[in-house]
Parts: sequence; C-alpha cells; structure tokens
Amino acid sequence: MLDAVQPQLPLWSEDNPEQGWAVRESRRARRLAIRVFHTGRVEVVVPRRTSRRAVAQFLAGHREWIESKLANARRHAAAPEPFPPSRIEFSACAQSWRVHLAGGSSRVRARVMAPGILALAGDMSDVREVRRALRDWLALEARALLGPALAQCARDMGVQYRRIAIRRQRTRWGSCSTRGTISLNGGLLFQTPQVMRYLLVHELVHTRHMNHSRSFWTEVARHCPEHARLDAELLDGWRRVPSWVLGET
Ligand SMILES: [Zn+2]
Repeated sequence: MLDAVQPQLPLWSEDNPEQGWAVRESRRARRLAIRVFHTGRVEVVVPRRTSRRAVAQFLAGHREWIESKLANARRHAAAPEPFPPSRIEFSACAQSWRVHLAGGSSRVRARVMAPGILALAGDMSDVREVRRALRDWLALEARALLGPALAQCARDMGVQYRRIAIRRQRTRWGSCSTRGTISLNGGLLFQTPQVMRYLLVHELVHTRHMNHSRSFWTEVARHCPEHARLDAELLDGWRRVPSWVLGET
C-alpha cells in the first residue's frame, strides 16, 4: 500500500491542490510539526524563515505517518453532505430544523420562519457567504440553547461562572478561563444530550480546579459518573459535526 504513497499525497488537500499541504509560519514554533485534520487537510507548522527545502525534506521523512493519518481520516469521514444542508439536527436538545431556500439576489441571510424552519434567503452562488450566514445563525442558536443549559447545570452543581462565550474552534469543545468565562463550541449542539451535559459539568468543575488533577476528576465523577465513556465519545464527536460548521472558509 505504501508504494502508492508518494504520488497520492497531493491529491488530498482541500486548499492547495498543487502542493498537497499548507505551510503555516509560526513565531512560537521551535521546530517543524505536522497536523493532519479530520477533514484530511495537512498543515505543516514551521518556525519563521524555514526554507522550502527543509519543509519538503521534513514531509518526505514523515510520508508514512501522514499517509496513515489520512487513511484514518478517510475511514472516519462521513459521506459527503449536500450543501446547503436540507436539515440541521441539534441532537443535544432534540431540535430539528428544515432549511428552506428562499431565493433572492441580496446578501445571504438565514432567518427563522417558523419553529423548526430556517430560511436561507439571498444570492446562493457564493458558498462561503452561505456558510457564513449559517454559522452566524448557529452562533445565536448555540447561545440560546447552551446558555440556559449551562446555567441550569451550574445551579444543580452549586457552582458559579461569570459568563459564557460561544466559539467555533476546531480543536476544543470548551474551556474555562481563570476569570470564570466558560467558552463552548457550537458543535456541541450536534452531540448527544449526555455528552453535552458531561462537557458542561467538566468546564464548570474547572471553575474550582483549574487542572485535571485527581480532585478535579473526583468532582466530575460526583456529578457525572459516566464521564470516562462520555469523554471518549466527545473525542470522537467531531465526526458528528457537519463540515460547514467547522471548515476554515
Ligand atoms: Zn478540562
């Protein structure tokens, strides 16, 4: 299988078909590193002023590793979803939306027509604009749905946080700052209710333990005995998030 590796690598990039990977210069990087995203995108992070030659050599030296990561990503990739989606399912809150294409020539907007019906109106020719409209709406929905869920969970646990922020990171589901801001990924809406609740508990316990110490996990377990299973499910949860939510453009 590895014989075919070399000529194949360039085929799987989304962004940069000629090259097959994207190079990102980082001030903080001390050495070269490769990331293979679940979408199949390959990113090489390099310290500043790294030569093309060094990047090429590094990639050549890691082809087998990249190849196995990509094979893994493809194995886990869902069937390509149609875009715009015809339905959006927020499994975390058992909410289902039908997407209605309303047409028009103005800038794309997503607006709620009736409970469970989302209209996408405007010029649909620019896919990025359609994604932007959907993501803006998702951010509002996430705030409207995750906000009360977090507040309720905090009340049940008897803990306090300062405020909530909705993010769309591709690498983390949530975080808790020392100032008490709990950031939640909008992609949580696509997880099961149990998984969402686990993440809320996890972040809320961080308001008391800013680490993953034994006492942290003991407290998580007190509120969520099944945390280990749910944490594993969450690790795999990116697959349940539609690609329009987390893509880069
Ligand atoms: Zn944590």
